[in-house]
Amino acid sequence: MPLSANNPDRTTWLEVAPNSDFPIQNIPFGVFLTRDDIITIGTRIGDFAIDLGAMHQLGYFEGIDLTDDIFLQDSLNDFISDGRKTWRLVRNRISEVFEANNPKLRDNMEHRDVIIFTMEEIEMQLPVSIGDYTDFYSSKEHATNVGSMFRDPEKALLPNWLHIPVGYHGRSSSIIPSGINVRRPKGQTLPPDSDEPVFGPSKRVDFELEMAFITTDANHLGEPIPVDEAEDYIFGLVLFNDWSARDIQKWEYVPLGPFLAKNFASSISPWIVTLDALQPFKVDGPEPEKPQLPYLQYTGPKSYDINLEVYLQPEDSEPHKVSTSNFKYMYWNMAQQLAHHTVNGCNVVSGDMMGSGTISGPTPDSYGSMLELSWAGKNPLQLPDGSTRSFIEDNDTVILKGYCQNDQVRIGFGECRTKLLPALK
Ligand code: MN
Repeated sequence: MPLSANNPDRTTWLEVAPNSDFPIQNIPFGVFLTRDDIITIGTRIGDFAIDLGAMHQLGYFEGIDLTDDIFLQDSLNDFISDGRKTWRLVRNRISEVFEANNPKLRDNMEHRDVIIFTMEEIEMQLPVSIGDYTDFYSSKEHATNVGSMFRDPEKALLPNWLHIPVGYHGRSSSIIPSGINVRRPKGQTLPPDSDEPVFGPSKRVDFELEMAFITTDANHLGEPIPVDEAEDYIFGLVLFNDWSARDIQKWEYVPLGPFLAKNFASSISPWIVTLDALQPFKVDGPEPEKPQLPYLQYTGPKSYDINLEVYLQPEDSEPHKVSTSNFKYMYWNMAQQLAHHTVNGCNVVSGDMMGSGTISGPTPDSYGSMLELSWAGKNPLQLPDGSTRSFIEDNDTVILKGYCQNDQVRIGFGECRTKLLPALK
């Protein structure tokens, strides 16, 4: 199945700014509420949201085997279940309909009026109903930094780390789309120089710069997915802010790992950028530092060159960039993560979400959390408004951005924006 939608020479009859994250080569998928309060599945070109439910009703997907209500849903799960062949047919068709020289919709004002919205007219929702959410820990730089701070710089990486894409099962009920505020959590923490815990608002709320991938139905219970087939089951990616309360985490995480420090909220960007759209940005990953077991050995490039940025915006102030990283730094790639996740026979279904783990780069300005950027509070960041930050303060907004760029095309994710509200009284 050719990926004609990726043709870098294609232009559209819609107006798109040259630096837009959403040129006609992107065609992401999302769910939104229209101005008439109708929920629908859609895509985005430039700053226009396109109602795929209306397009389907008006016959624009004729010849593609789709159920009548496939886009008239409040989640993408059923569409994702249809599999890669259908995703490609639909993405290619959308690209054809909006191609500059195609008059069919371009010259039909009645149809345009019900299919095309401006971004101001709609409200983005969570794109999938997330059944299960897993978070990995796949950035070597991040694992090394955290190991150095919490344990011993000489033995920062635990003995299993270079052999296993380490992960844990998170909680999906508290995953929210960009634009929804988060409350500072309360919990148990152990004050410095004390043997007894106290209860109260976390004093060390942090972001984690991550990406997450969303899967389709991948395997039957008991059947592993081979590493070189794993990408066939990945629908696409979003930006992912895995909110964390470091003081709660430090007290609770031994021996079973993160719990209440992590499950109070995680934010995602609302447009799922397909793995197909990211194909021009495939690159080789880091060389393994130790031999990997055969089920984790893969052929061909399986990392992606995605520029990532984090901005911190205090109340009544401008956003200030605090980190610049890249998805390609990940030591373990998505195919290895999915192969490892299923090697014991664990089944993965449509709408499951897998977080990468915090994506830190090699330099201090590329670290993916405040914990690392401020080195556990020892080196607070200086902000342009004169204030300093070791962790996230009340009413701060954290903004993640991500984009791929070559000399022909830019494919972006938009943003994942969340404000931290004060703890409940
Ligand atoms: Mn995480």
